[in-house]
Amino acid sequence: MNLPPIPNPQSPIPPSSTIGIIGGGQLGRMLAIAAAQMGYHTHIFTPEVDAPAREVAKHTTVASYDSRDDLKRFARSVDVVTYEFENIPVAAVADIARHVNVFPSPEILATSQHRLLEKQAINTLGVATAPFAPVSNQEELNAAIKKLGLPAVLKTATMGYDGKGQWMLQPRDNLEKIWLEVTGDRKQVTENKHETSVTRNPPPVTFILEGFVDFRMEISVIVARDARGATECYCPVQNIHKDHILSETIVPAPISDALAQKAQAIAEVIASGLNLVGLMAVEMFVTNNDEIIVNELAPRPHNSGHWTIDACVTSQFEQTIRAICGLPLGSTEKLCDAKMRNLIGDDINDWQKYLAMPNARLHLYGKKEARPGRKMGHVTFLASAGA
Ligand code: AMP
Repeated sequence: MNLPPIPNPQSPIPPSSTIGIIGGGQLGRMLAIAAAQMGYHTHIFTPEVDAPAREVAKHTTVASYDSRDDLKRFARSVDVVTYEFENIPVAAVADIARHVNVFPSPEILATSQHRLLEKQAINTLGVATAPFAPVSNQEELNAAIKKLGLPAVLKTATMGYDGKGQWMLQPRDNLEKIWLEVTGDRKQVTENKHETSVTRNPPPVTFILEGFVDFRMEISVIVARDARGATECYCPVQNIHKDHILSETIVPAPISDALAQKAQAIAEVIASGLNLVGLMAVEMFVTNNDEIIVNELAPRPHNSGHWTIDACVTSQFEQTIRAICGLPLGSTEKLCDAKMRNLIGDDINDWQKYLAMPNARLHLYGKKEARPGRKMGHVTFLASAGA
């Protein structure tokens, strides 16, 4: 694997330097706020004129991910680069990495963008995922169903997010009809978003079929790893989804200490195995037998880690900045239990209610229009000491 140069731990990127952030959404905004708090400048690269991160960054480039001149100019104006979401063309990130270090590496980005590569990489590290099979046509779908059984979940290999590009298949379903719907819908998913173009040849697979995991809980672990190979994990949290979008995160996840340690160990194995420099969320299922099955990786700050801003010694955003700048990782100690609620669409109208609650910390992202399904902000409820 062609690894990018790593920062020399002896010479960290000092405050007053400029951190480049690809993507201008709320994660980029909260990264830029954390960077500013530590004395860094930020430069956002985004195709969107009204990106939420722009308001809090020193510089912005508004340009397409296809514009090689803009990518080069951006890369040359910053001291290190990270990204705030996965669905960026890897070719653009690889272009940037020719001029400046990008963390996490473009290889990790490519792996996390493709469900087949991702699951293969996780399994190679000895970590369990749902059983899966690649699917590119209806014959392969029939063969995959024979192998994995039904119910099963059919997913686009790339570009899935918030439940889009995903279909639950049941024993009585008309598979021919579903395949037609699915291939039509996939076209829409990839037309609406920038299709992935991976630097190394990605497998020519359009879907994967996953065996259905009868989980009792969804959890995630956020892990950071520095250039020396030191890792720090936050405690596992429980994630509750509504309409496929994260609704609430419960901190800590209501699981045994032994299971929590196992989940953190899995996250560390993956971070080390992929040679992560930066921060990564590992989404997992907990089964009724207390098995842990990894579902997805997100090599960036994650919605299920927003609570760390208000309830941890070091937030996931500051931790990202520390890891990519070659600074020592901060303590992930939890200061108190917490619950994070996303404010989605019209939920934002309740903002005054949260301001009146003494244990609630309100975060709004400065988005103008409250469309259904759009993440407008979040609230972290802090448990009273000892609760
Ligand atoms: P994903 O896009 O892979 O994060 O999946 C979105 C959601 O669909 C997950 O958070 C689960 O609730 C559900 N899901 C995904 N894959 C499976 C699976 N193999 N078995 C059961 N539920 C799943």
